[in-house]
Amino acid sequence: MGIATINPATGETLKTFEPLTDVEIAAKLGQAQQAFEDYRKISIAEKAKWMNKAAEILEAQRDRMAAIMTLEMGKPIKGAIAEIDKCAAVCRYYAENAAKFLADVAVETDASNSFVRYQPLGIILAVMPWNFPFWQVFRFAAPGLMAGNVGILKHASNVPQCALAIEEIFLQAGFPVGVFQTLLVGADKVAGIVADERVKAATLTGSEAAGASLAEAAGKHIKKTVLELGGSDPFIVLESADLETAVSTAVAARMLNNGQSCIAAKRFIVVDAIADEFQQRLVEKFQALKIGDPSNPETDLGPLATPRILDDLDNLVQECVSQGAKVLTGGKALSDRPGNYYPATILADFPPGTPADDQEFFGPVALLFRVANIDEAIQRANAIPFGLGASAWTTDQEECDRLINEIEAGAVFINGLVKSDPRLPFGGIKRSGYGRELGIQGIHEFVNIKTIWIK
Ligand code: NDP
Repeated sequence: MGIATINPATGETLKTFEPLTDVEIAAKLGQAQQAFEDYRKISIAEKAKWMNKAAEILEAQRDRMAAIMTLEMGKPIKGAIAEIDKCAAVCRYYAENAAKFLADVAVETDASNSFVRYQPLGIILAVMPWNFPFWQVFRFAAPGLMAGNVGILKHASNVPQCALAIEEIFLQAGFPVGVFQTLLVGADKVAGIVADERVKAATLTGSEAAGASLAEAAGKHIKKTVLELGGSDPFIVLESADLETAVSTAVAARMLNNGQSCIAAKRFIVVDAIADEFQQRLVEKFQALKIGDPSNPETDLGPLATPRILDDLDNLVQECVSQGAKVLTGGKALSDRPGNYYPATILADFPPGTPADDQEFFGPVALLFRVANIDEAIQRANAIPFGLGASAWTTDQEECDRLINEIEAGAVFINGLVKSDPRLPFGGIKRSGYGRELGIQGIHEFVNIKTIWIK
C-alpha cells in the first residue's frame, strides 16, 4: 500500500504522498543528529516550556486535528477530540515531572560520592500505528523529547496527514528544527533506518509481525527496542459484580475506537450464575449502538480503518462460525453502503481450536465465554499468547487479590476498563511485547542510566 489518505467511510482516495528517497532519508537523519548535539544541552525548564506550548497548540487546534484523524482512519469524532485532549495532558505531565524523573539519584557506596545520572541517547525511531494516530506518537514523544532525545516518526502509511500535523505542532511549539521529524516512508525502509549508526533505539506499536521484524533488525545492531503489540484482553465478571456497570463498561471497553484498540476488552469471561443476564444485556446494548458516519458526533461505531482490517476480522469471525461458534448478534460486514463497516458482533459457544483461542480480533467483535468459577475464569484469561491488560469485576476482596496476583498481564484493572494514563506505566508481557511507556518507567526506557563513582 502506498502512503495515502483514503477515507474509510467512503473508500475514496483523497490524497497520495511520495515516499522519501534514500537520499532524503539520509538528509533527515543528518539533521536529527545535528539537532541532538545542541538539544541535549538545553535545560529541562526550556524544554518544558516548549512541551507546554505543544499542549496549548493541541487544544487550540483540537477540532482541526480531530477531523484529520477521523478522515484518515475513521475514529468517531467524539473519540478523536478526546484523544487530542489526552495528548495535551501527556505533554503537560512530562513537562511538569521530567526534572524530578531525571534528577540524579544518590546511592551510598564505598565512594565519597556515587550516584545515577540519566542522559539522553540520541535519535530514537518511533514506528507507530494508525489506531490512535496522535496519542501513540505523543506518548512516545513527550517523555522522549523531555529526556533530551530527538525523535523520528515512521507513521502508518494510512495516516500521513496526522504524521505531518504532529511534526508541525512540535515546530510551532518552539522545538528546534530536527528535534522531531516525520519521515514519510513505507515499512520496507525501517530496517535500513534502524541500521544507521546515528539511530540509537526504536519503539514500535503495532502487530506482532511488525514488532518481530523491527526487533530483529535492531537486534542485529545491538539496539534497544520497546514493543507494544497486540492483545486479547479478558474482561472477567464474577457473581458479586455490579452487573449493570459491568455491562455498560463492557460495551465501552470493546467498542472504543471501533474496536481497534490493543487494550480493548476482547474476551468476556462470565461466571455461569450471571451469564444469561450479562449476555442478554450485552446483546441489547450492542444492538442499540449507532453505526455510521464517524464525523457525526452521534455516531458510536464508525468504519474500520482499512479494507484489509475488515477482511482480517471477518475471516476470523467466519472461521469461528464454520467451526461451530454461535453468532448472538452481527457477524457479517455491512454490504449496504460503501466504506469498511462491520457491525457490533458477539460470538459465543466456541469449540476448542477456533481463532478465539489465540488471535486478536481487531474490530467490534466480542467473544463470550462462560465459566463455572473464579478458577476457571483465571485459567481462561491466561490461556492466550498475549498479556497486555485485563479488566475484572468483583466486590469480594479475596477474589480481587487472586485476580491481581494470578492474571498474566501488564495491567489489571478491577471494576474499571483498561486505559492508559500518563501517570501509570503501560505495556505488556508475553507476545504483547516488552518495555513500558508512560509514568516514570516510560521516560527511563530511552536514557543512558549512567553510574557515577567518585573517590
Ligand atoms: P502493522 O503492525 O502492520 O502497522 C503498524 C506500524 O508498523 C505501521 O507504521 C507500519 O507501517 C509498520 N510496519 C508494518 N510492518 C512492518 C515491518 N515489517 N517492519 C517495520 N515496520 C512495519 O499494523 P496493521 O495496520 O497492518 O494492522 C494489522 C494488525 O496489527 C491488526 O489487525 C492488529 O491486530 C495489530 N495492530 C495492533 C495495534 C496495537 O495498538 N497494538 C495497532 C495496529 C495494529 P505501514 O503502515 O507502512 O505498513
